Amino acid sequence: MHRRITGKLVIATHNPGKLAEMRELLAPHGVEAISAGELGLGEPDETGDSFRTNARIKAMAAAKAAQLPAFADDSGLVVDALDGAPGILSARWAGEGKDFNAAMTRIERLLQERGATTPDKRKAHFVSALCVAWPDDHVEEVEARADGTLVWPPRGSAGFGYDPAFLPDGHSRTFGEMTSIEKHGLPPLGLGLSHRARAFVKLAEICLD
Ligand code: IMP
Repeated sequence: MHRRITGKLVIATHNPGKLAEMRELLAPHGVEAISAGELGLGEPDETGDSFRTNARIKAMAAAKAAQLPAFADDSGLVVDALDGAPGILSARWAGEGKDFNAAMTRIERLLQERGATTPDKRKAHFVSALCVAWPDDHVEEVEARADGTLVWPPRGSAGFGYDPAFLPDGHSRTFGEMTSIEKHGLPPLGLGLSHRARAFVKLAEICLD
């Protein structure tokens, strides 16, 4: 049986952007989002070997510490020709300075070394794993992806991370060239293109009123 989310929900992130996005998505469902930062919760080590496991580690740690249901996400870019890299290491490839130009350049160099020069050899997808955990160990988990192709050079300055290098399937503009409504917005405002938007729709279907 799926469990509904009602009342207060801890958002287990220290990223203000993610917190704001979740607050906006949850407000229409009557759920009050409280940030892990406000509660003074620490950040557990992401020791899992998959997006799903890392989301669960973060949600479970926050649920236990706050004794409230808690939400966490984990996401990243998976490049087919690089055997799935950077994957769960997507944030780490940008280093301490969060230099995503350097991370995109590293991916491009590796693609060139492997002869991945035509679009069919440059397939990639973003993954978003979402987890809501309760203090009694119940979890609800969903995962979704956005498929596309990597372009070089990167295009556009909107969004974050690897957005400028990612051309979603069926579109002629990269995520870096789209407005946030186009990328993340849910219908009817946006197209629900991003992995996070798609995962959220799945979570709403099973857990939200
Ligand atoms: P997380 O915060 O541990 O989930 O790390 C996710 C990392 O994956 C981010 O730092 C970005 O590098 C990358 N990433 C995830 N989602 C997106 C996206 O929508 N656009 C661009 N990069 C993304």
